[in-house]
Amino acid sequence: MNERDSEIMAQSLSGYGYIEGMEMNEADLVILNTCSIRAKAEQKVLSLLGYLRKTKLKRPAMKICVAGCVAQQEGNRLLDRMPHIDLVIGTQNIYNIGPLLLRAETDGSRVVTELRDDYAIPKFLPALSPMAADRAESACAAPSIQFSKFVTIMQGCNNYCTYCVVPYTRGREISRNVDDIIEEVNILVKAGVKEITLLGQNVNSYGKANAVTADRRPYNFSDLLREVSSVEGLARLRFTTSNPKDLTDALMKSFRDVKNLCPQFHLPVQSGSDRILKSMNRKYTAAQYLEKVEKLREYMPGIALTTDIIVGFPGESDEDFQDTMNLLEEVRFHGSFSFKYSDRPGTQASKLAEKVDERVKMERLAVFQQRQDEISLLRNREYVGHGQSVMLEECSESGGKGRTGTNHIVHFSECRGHVAGDIVRMKIVHAGQHSLRGEIEKTDEV
Ligand code: SF4
Repeated sequence: MNERDSEIMAQSLSGYGYIEGMEMNEADLVILNTCSIRAKAEQKVLSLLGYLRKTKLKRPAMKICVAGCVAQQEGNRLLDRMPHIDLVIGTQNIYNIGPLLLRAETDGSRVVTELRDDYAIPKFLPALSPMAADRAESACAAPSIQFSKFVTIMQGCNNYCTYCVVPYTRGREISRNVDDIIEEVNILVKAGVKEITLLGQNVNSYGKANAVTADRRPYNFSDLLREVSSVEGLARLRFTTSNPKDLTDALMKSFRDVKNLCPQFHLPVQSGSDRILKSMNRKYTAAQYLEKVEKLREYMPGIALTTDIIVGFPGESDEDFQDTMNLLEEVRFHGSFSFKYSDRPGTQASKLAEKVDERVKMERLAVFQQRQDEISLLRNREYVGHGQSVMLEECSESGGKGRTGTNHIVHFSECRGHVAGDIVRMKIVHAGQHSLRGEIEKTDEV
């Protein structure tokens, strides 16, 4: 989500004379697009802002802007602590960053963080860039990002999981107009993009909170998947992120019926304990989650499942943690993102007593991650000897890397005349814990 928001700000600012660059120390404007989902990410922002204070002393003309969830959450407090910041811009205001930077200079309005319940995602389309032409000229050197893009379909969340800041930092759930989404996908595909990932905090509740069609007919995420998938030239479609409670049968069937939908699903479970899931306000049980996993595997055998896990949520006992380990054994996720629980300001969970000791959290995290690593390796070995469709992301004389439909990274040593962006058939010859190794087989079948 933040990556796409950064692109939106960069594109908006190109109309104000700014060119996106990589060297922070030489920039006229530095934007920190922040995340506050975990305490560690927030601490990194504060430490970078401390560093930028010294840079600004040497180069006072440099402007510093803080965007995203930390900006939304901290607002004026951030400016009080860090007066060298020129603009603090909230999550619903990024589309307007150009005028807001100018206004900060003229009337000193340096904090813009209003969150509106009646917010509508503005019509904002990517500028058509000549990606296909770039590709032809630079052959192997074309960067992968040109062929794979994110498209925002919704913002905010109404679920109020007790540990999560998103409903407070991103506001109420709002779905984007379907015609705007299809237009954006069309523009990207015409420009050479082959893979689209639909983005939102809870994509499978798309269309629930507000009308998304001009004629206001009911329209849901499965409808959107079908419509996007039929954009001519789109080879691959993915989406993230989903809440299991909103995973409908229709959506699960999409994996069987929508041909270019990749066989990969990130479905955060967070815990295997019903007691903890209830305390997290997740609104499903471990058994319901497992039932959905079983159905998904019926509709799409071989689907690669990944998840998010929080260990050490307030009140989590040894038995609760064992329930999480049992769920891991049952599902055998291809991979997972696991974290120690940390209090986030303003959330319900931060007010819960029975905090788990830091050492216990670390031990549980290590146990979970070690077992997940073992399972990931075993899962990856299942691919060895089999063919996979792989989109090449990097190619050079010495080989490169690509990505399977199941979202596995595959390294290879020979491009065999292919260039980044090509989708090829590869035989997987080796599996590691976090990636595969393959050989390009043939070019006429993917
Ligand atoms: S569904 Fe996701 S974004 Fe929404 S509150 Fe829960 S964890 Fe946060």
